Formats: sequence, structure tokens, C-alpha cells
Amino acid sequence: MSAYIRDMFGSRNKTKECPSCAMEVSRDEEECRYCHYEFPPEQKGTMAMAWAFIILIIIWLITRF
Ligand SMILES: [Zn+2]
Repeated sequence: MSAYIRDMFGSRNKTKECPSCAMEVSRDEEECRYCHYEFPPEQKGTMAMAWAFIILIIIWLITRF
């Protein structure tokens, strides 16, 4: 959670902390280069949720008329 808050305030920070070995790895990495921990795709999930919400609103707007 602390890493998430840090990301919000430091957008220039291009690294994330591995929860398995506590090493700094590139933000783009899907897997830790040190211990091969697989990062959960949280951002992708959030984006999918946002798109689902937008689509639902569009469908609701269309079906209103
Ligand atoms: Zn690691």
C-alpha cells in the first residue's frame, strides 16, 4: 500500500518494489528480475473495470430513449 501511495505522489518514479524480495524493479516488468516473482496485473484490472463501467453507462444512455 505504501508503494501505491508513493506512486501517486511520485509519478516520475519508474520503479516498483517487489513484495517478495523488496528489490526495486522497473515498472514495466511483469516479473521480478531478481526472484522471478510475478506481479499481479492490478492496473490492467482497474482499466478493465473502468471500461466496463463506461460501456454500461453508454448502454444505459442508449436504452433510455
Ligand atoms: Zn523479487
